[in-house]
Amino acid sequence: MSELVIRNLHVNVEGKEILKGLNLTLPQGEVHAIMGPNGTGKSTLAYTLMGHPKYEVTEGEVIFKGQNILELSPEERAHLGIFLAFQYPVAIPGVTLANFLRAAVNAKRKAANPDDEGISVAEFRKLLTEKMRLLKMDPSFAGRYLNDGFSGGEKKRAEILQMAMLEPEIAILDETDSGLDIDALRIVSEGVNALRGPDLGVLVITHYQRILRYIKPDKVHIMMDGRIVESGGPELAEHLEEHGYDWLRERIAA
Ligand code: ADP
Ligand code: MG
Repeated sequence: MSELVIRNLHVNVEGKEILKGLNLTLPQGEVHAIMGPNGTGKSTLAYTLMGHPKYEVTEGEVIFKGQNILELSPEERAHLGIFLAFQYPVAIPGVTLANFLRAAVNAKRKAANPDDEGISVAEFRKLLTEKMRLLKMDPSFAGRYLNDGFSGGEKKRAEILQMAMLEPEIAILDETDSGLDIDALRIVSEGVNALRGPDLGVLVITHYQRILRYIKPDKVHIMMDGRIVESGGPELAEHLEEHGYDWLRERIAA
């Protein structure tokens, strides 16, 4: 059983400190949600875990399988078993989603075993069919060109399918605030619910309380001003829905 441990993480964006000593442990097999008001640094955390060069780590570490992943490239992080949202959100006309997924699966196999000759077409088809059935996706979707004219919901579908195919041990999903309609939210939630189990840990980063009506997290963490300020069970999300963030602001100020 592996866990992702974030310790005292400080991150600057364009010279300004956004994450200010964030601590969080995500065990494999659990679904955790991070919630918090806009501008609090949730996406900064996601981008930092992803290894985006704009996010400068000034202090702290993120340990997974005995390694500080902050020292690894985004590819190395993926090969270690961490799935970070959609790593290739650009449209690639001429490359189908199936082609792309096959390349991603092969890259992972190759990283685990340099002698690997790649997944056979038949084996890949079988795996893809099985995962699409599990996620209740129409098989024709895999024949579409990657992200070419995809709606917000279809991008989310492609992301969840990629996650299913790569079978990560830890998945981090940033449900960015803009452009995620209720439909896309439902796709993500149903996907996470279909994939959750003892071998997968999921961190859902969201500012929507309503996603938690679809995903029942094992734990909810509230982030404010660059730190986790409160952790609890699903009832914490309900409390937030009723009372907002003011009670926490007051407590932090006191
Ligand atoms: P959240 O996802 O919680 O809404 P963000 O992590 O997006 O918060 O933003 C936190 C703060 O960092 C904001 O003040 C935002 O303006 C700033 N910030 C985040 N990313 C960038 C960036 N790429 N360039 C400049 N400022 C950024
Ligand atoms: Mg955000």
